[in-house]
Formats: sequence, C-alpha cells, structure tokens
Amino acid sequence: MATSHASNDTATNAPLRRIVIVGGGTAGWMAAASLARFLRNLKCDIQLVESEQIGTIGVGEATIPPIMNFIRVLGIDEDDLIRQTNATFKLGIRFQDWTRVGHSYFHPFGRTGFEMEGIGFPAYWMRQRLAGDAAPLEEYSLQAMAAAHNRFMRPVQAPGSPLEGITYALHFDAALFARYLRGYSEARGVTRVEGRVVRVDLRPEDGFIEALRLEDGRRIDGDFFIDCSGFRGLLIEEALQAGYENWQRFLPCDSAVAVPSERAGPPPSYTLAAARSAGWQWRIPLQHREGNGVVYARDFLSDEAARETLLSNLAGKPLADPRVLRFVTGRRRESWKRNCLSLGLASGFLEPLESTSIHMVHRGLALFIQMLPDRHCEPADIARYNRMLAFEYERIRDFLVLHYATGQRRDSDFWRHCAGIEWPDSLRAKIELFQGYGRIQREDTELFPEQSWLYVFTGQDIRPRRPDPMTDLLDPDKIRGGLANIHDVIGRVVQTMPHHQAFIDRHCAAAG
Ligand code: FAD
Repeated sequence: MATSHASNDTATNAPLRRIVIVGGGTAGWMAAASLARFLRNLKCDIQLVESEQIGTIGVGEATIPPIMNFIRVLGIDEDDLIRQTNATFKLGIRFQDWTRVGHSYFHPFGRTGFEMEGIGFPAYWMRQRLAGDAAPLEEYSLQAMAAAHNRFMRPVQAPGSPLEGITYALHFDAALFARYLRGYSEARGVTRVEGRVVRVDLRPEDGFIEALRLEDGRRIDGDFFIDCSGFRGLLIEEALQAGYENWQRFLPCDSAVAVPSERAGPPPSYTLAAARSAGWQWRIPLQHREGNGVVYARDFLSDEAARETLLSNLAGKPLADPRVLRFVTGRRRESWKRNCLSLGLASGFLEPLESTSIHMVHRGLALFIQMLPDRHCEPADIARYNRMLAFEYERIRDFLVLHYATGQRRDSDFWRHCAGIEWPDSLRAKIELFQGYGRIQREDTELFPEQSWLYVFTGQDIRPRRPDPMTDLLDPDKIRGGLANIHDVIGRVVQTMPHHQAFIDRHCAAAG
C-alpha cells in the first residue's frame, strides 16, 4: 500500500565520503581548512591536489572585515597568523585621483555615527552637509580618522565609546597565508597530493565528475570536487562547461602588473588605490615589504607603459621583476554544477579595487557549508546557491563600476571611455535613488552596507537634490549638536590610539 512516507532509499542521505579539492592557492587552502573544521564529524576524506610546477597567482593581499570571522571560526590565533604572514591591519581604502586629479576620499570599514530617533546617520549628516553645516563625512568615522593619523587598536570594552566598534581587516602575504592554512588543514587530516591533473573523468549516466587523472597515471576518485584551479577552471569550465559571463563592457581593465617593493616608512593602516591614466595602482603595506600593482586596460595602455607607471610610482626599491597577469572580469554562470563547486578565480574575477575576491571564496564556502549536499546534489539547492552567488557578484560589480563611471576625469582616452560606460540597471536604480533624497537601500544579501555606498557616492561627488524628508522630523539643533558631538569624540579618541606600527610591535610583530 502506498504511504505518504518516502521509501528507505529516498529517506536517507548518502553522505559525502571523499571530497577532492583541485588547487593549492588561497582558495584551495581556504576550502581545505573550512571543510576540515566544519565537516570533521562527517568522516569525510579530504584531499587537495596541486601542482608546484603550475604555481599559484601569488597576489591577493588586501582583505575586508569578514576575513576576521573566517579566522575566528577556524579557531586560529589572530596574532599568530599575523606574525606568520607578515600582516598589517587595515581600516579602509584611500582612493586617490579617482573623482578628479588631486582629489581623494576614504572608504572606511565599520559604522559611522548613530541613529537619531530612528533616522540613520547618513540621512541627517547629508541634510546638514547640503546646508553647508557639516564637516566632511570621513571626519565622523573612527576608522577613517585613525587611518589618517596612522593609528590602530582592536576594539575594547568601553561602553558608549566608538572604540567598542573598531572594525578592521588585514593585509597579508598571500603565499604565507596559503602556507598557514595548509599547516592548519594537514594537522586536521587533509591530505595533499602533488601532481598535475591532466584528465577529468565524467560518469556517463549523469555527467558527474567521477575521478581525476594525474600526469603520472594516478587516479583520484571522489564524490564531490572543488575547483580552485585558478582562472582556467579546469573542472568547472574545461570539463563541465559551466559558461562565463563577461563583464568587460562595465569594467574595462583586463591586465595587471605586480611587484613587491621595499618598505618605505611605517606601514599605513589602509590600502591605497591611486587612479592612473589608464587604470589604477594599489599599494598594500606588509610588515616586511609592500605589495604593488597597476591594474590597466590593454586597449589604452601597453604592458611596457604599465610597467613604467608601476615602477615610477613605487615608494621603495622593487624586490623582483614586475609580473604581468591577464584576467577577464566576470563570473562563472554556474559556480556550482553537478558535483563540482568552483571557488576563487575559477568561479569569477572582479579586480581588487575593493579587495573582494578572497571574501567571495569565504562567502562561497559559508554558503556551501550551509547548503551541504550529499552525493545526490539536489538541483534546486544548486540553483539557489548559484542565484545567491550571482546576486552578490553583481552587486559588487556595481560598486566597482560606480568608481569608474561617475568620476569627472576626462584627461585620457581611458577616462573618456569610462565616462561613457553603460551602467548596469541595478546600479542606475541605486544612483537615481541616491540622487533624489540621498537614500540608499541595501538589498538582500549584498556585501556592501549602506554606509559604504554613501562614502563612495560622496567621494565621487554625487549629491542628492534634496535631503531625506524624514529628517524634517528631527529638531535641527539636535542634529547639529549630535554631529558636533560625534566629531568631537572621534577627534579626541583617535589621539588616544597607539600608532599602527607600535601596536604591531607590541602584539604581533613577525620574527626578523
Ligand atoms: P591560484 O592562486 O591561481 O591557484 C590555482 C591553483 O590551482 C594552484 O595551486 C595551481 O597549482 C593549481 N592548478 C591549476 N591547474 C592545475 C592542474 N592541472 N593540476 C593540479 N593543480 C593545478 N583578492 C583579494 O581579496 N584582495 C586583493 O588585494 C587581491 N588582489 C589581486 C590582484 C590581482 C592582480 C589579481 C589577479 C587577483 C587579486 N586578488 C585579490 C584575487 C586573489 O588573488 C585570488 O582570489 C586568490 O588568490 C585565489 O586564487 P586561487 O586560489 O583561486 O587561484
């Protein structure tokens, strides 16, 4: 007799028993570490295959605050990680020459100000700013002002003080970070296999990946595969043809040239992103050196000219020959297909303007673990994962386009081209909303909070026509008093913070 209960066959799971990760860059070892930590009760064998011959991309040194959660949930000692990866602290990003040459603005982490009678800081600050009665936005942010004075400390228990809410991320040596996570993963049972994957075997009946073949003939079987093989997407694209959505029409850069250099002076507690004639240049301070690179569009700048731009704008002596990297901005159409999840460069690439790539590895892993499949890999779950990831990639893309497409620079073919970049509809809607009453709506699970958009809108000199009518409900003297109080407290508190270098020396200086 038929019952409403599923048969034994469908009512039980077929838990994952063998997960194979391809790639030992930042993405591969982040995946290995997370799975070793979170799947420890699943009795699942985790293997990571990588090829030293092929190597890793080796850049990717600036992060955003969620990385601190990644570190904490793995139970990693933060100071130890900082020492081992020569890391420094990061409070935000300084954008120089983006809006126009000679202009700069700061995108700090963390919250600025507080709500007044249920009305957010951005609304009442903007009201006063439009009336010419408020200081620049940055002056109300502890992170921005601490970075401007090169100060840093971790949050402390100080009820009511802005020191409670200090929000930070790290700059670290990417190769040392991967090495650190390798040690963590191997100590928790992950096996590393050295070898080059040359073939991917698919199961004829459903196209699931069955095994990998290595150059030396070894076969590696698995029931789930994580593709962290870098831009080429060895499994997700070459074997499974998941497709790639190209966003170059929105973001014209397609190359980078990178070089480490000697440290010049104490490390700042922020990343510098300085616009150049056909792209921009990053400077990332580490304890022992600086990381530098120029991101550029080959249609507007040759590799040679990019190299010259890079070398002529270094603060310290170069420590190696500059290395050119090519990329195609966009995302994998299906980041997860059948029994293969792609992470890192294999899943998509957005230039490091807001340091989001490592975050997207973390985000992909967190979502995957929340939606952990068994060997059946339910298609509806996969579709949901892909929709969520696509949405988050798109909103980050929009945030990056905002930097390029709304500035006033017209001093080179590149910047004239940027002025004509088509805005994605989702970005257009955000800009138009802001241009009305200065309102910003964070949508669903998008990464950047309202205040991040406010900093970049304001930095790019985009202004609303009128203040938010909600602010008519507030007493103008109360707004003035509230803003003056925040400004004053921030100004005083920053002076009590240690210098960034002094904080590192006291807590987490690397040996040597
Ligand atoms: P990779 O580092 O390329 O690793 C690929 C791995 O796959 C390697 O171990 C390789 O050996 C292995 N592999 C490939 N093929 C095979 C094969 N056939 N057999 C066996 N193994 C194989 N992100 C940020 O968050 N912040 C930044 O500041 C930042 N800056 C960046 C600057 C530039 C110019 C670029 C290009 C990227 C930047 N990123 C940044 C992105 C960041 O570097 C990557 O997200 C991160 O390093 C992850 O890379 P990955 O592990 O996916 O790939």
